[in-house]
Amino acid sequence: MSDLLKTLTAKKPSCFKDFELVHTNDRSTSVMPFKPEYVHVMLYCPCGSEHFFVSAHKYEDTINLFFFKKTRVLFLGPVYLECARCGKESLAFDPFRHGWNSEGDHPTGYKPSGLDEELALTQCYDKPGKVAVCYSYQGIENYEDLIEEGIQNPQDFFDTFELTFCIEGTTKFLNITSDECR
Ligand SMILES: [Zn+2]
Repeated sequence: MSDLLKTLTAKKPSCFKDFELVHTNDRSTSVMPFKPEYVHVMLYCPCGSEHFFVSAHKYEDTINLFFFKKTRVLFLGPVYLECARCGKESLAFDPFRHGWNSEGDHPTGYKPSGLDEELALTQCYDKPGKVAVCYSYQGIENYEDLIEEGIQNPQDFFDTFELTFCIEGTTKFLNITSDECR
């Protein structure tokens, strides 16, 4: 692993300022690769709790299959977490503010194309659960360029983001949101 990659992955991106991050090797938390460019963490509240209620913008998408239509539910950022123990509410990820696109001033966000209305912020599940996050720094030469340009916070320019959720009392991590940030 390059020294730059070590430095990048050792720093906490600013969007997680309200959380403690603990590295995980649990492959069930993520569909993203477990490689040096990818950081896999569990989120903890400063109070020590690892259980949160998760809220995001719910979007129902209808897919036309050959003989029937299928509706799938997607959750779009920004994603907020509320600690199940102390009640602290924090923003975990906003595609318009965090990651390569937003830092580079070109946010694409989560709003599906062709959709005009604002999506309401809703609690994704009734119960709290554990939250895992993966973010990555894939094209290391891009980060070398950022540093040459004098950027002081290259760790905030991660290029993918995924947040998964495991409802208390269950073992399966469910995808809440994933994004190519560039
Ligand atoms: Zn708490």
